Amino acid sequence: MKRVVLKKPGSLSFESCDEPVPGPGDVLITVRACGICGSDVHAYLGKHPLVKYPVTPGHEFSGEVVAAGGDVHSELLGSRVCVEPSLACGHCPLCKSGRYNICGNLRVLGFQADGAMCEKIAVPRDRVHLLPPGVDFKGGALAEPAAVGIHALAMSGAGPGGWILVVGAGVIGLMITRAAKALGCRVAVIENNQERVGRALEFGADEALLFDEEPPGTTRGEPAGAGLQAVFECVGKPETMDLAVRLAPRGSTVVVVGVFPRPVPVPVSLVQDGELDVKGALMYTGEDFEKALDLIAGGLIEPGDFITHTVGLDEVERGYRLLTDPKAPTVKVLVEYDGG
Ligand SMILES: [Zn+2]
Ligand SMILES: [Zn+2]
Repeated sequence: MKRVVLKKPGSLSFESCDEPVPGPGDVLITVRACGICGSDVHAYLGKHPLVKYPVTPGHEFSGEVVAAGGDVHSELLGSRVCVEPSLACGHCPLCKSGRYNICGNLRVLGFQADGAMCEKIAVPRDRVHLLPPGVDFKGGALAEPAAVGIHALAMSGAGPGGWILVVGAGVIGLMITRAAKALGCRVAVIENNQERVGRALEFGADEALLFDEEPPGTTRGEPAGAGLQAVFECVGKPETMDLAVRLAPRGSTVVVVGVFPRPVPVPVSLVQDGELDVKGALMYTGEDFEKALDLIAGGLIEPGDFITHTVGLDEVERGYRLLTDPKAPTVKVLVEYDGG
């Protein structure tokens, strides 16, 4: 079969290899669609701190089950599925409590283990989610980034009727926007790019502002109950982390969703002064994945809104380049496979 290999930063190749054999507890999946993520681009550019080169990228994917390892029930054969790309140890206290997304031994397909930019992949059966009727392979590939947004929203404690503020209108910021609207929140988005401000409004934000405008409900000293309940940092840069903390009203929550390549300064005096609850949100669990599939099946997260470009498996590098081109109007670039 064919697969993409990221040998080292900047070096992608398309090569032949043997088909994987599903071990006990695994299923073999013919991949039909795989999203290219900002974190894949970081790995390509050598800016991702946790990649083990060489690696086959791809962690946002869907496909069809074509074989099962020894102890897996064969009723899964032929099922259309998407996959949580997290391989956790399963034994530590965090795994046992259900928080396997923060297992100390976590490996993620596409980063520390080979991912889905290949024709077939073997994955543990317990990381597989059935696609509901009406969700196609493209929708299935969006379940992963949607689950990131849903998990972050759940971490924030924001509830119906409250405002949230999303810093950064990339794919994850837009997923949080959609999930929050589905929950009945009101959403403000702040961006430093005028085009993305417009996009946030198209995706359902109640307000979208450029950095230098004042977002609603953020005046320091007001109780958070009447204004913002939570601020989401979805960029991963020092200036946006600083902004997120400065805009968070007293008593509110700041959720760190962006990926920071190195430590950044945070105005801790404001954290203390306003008893801000600063939380990290990492990946998701199976519950978040199921909620993501519900939102996609219900049309609240529409694949056609997110997927702006598609490329073939043999032209993945073009997809990466689209995502690094500031002039390309990309939201999600999807790798589509023969028969996908
Ligand atoms: Zn991703
Ligand atoms: Zn564990």
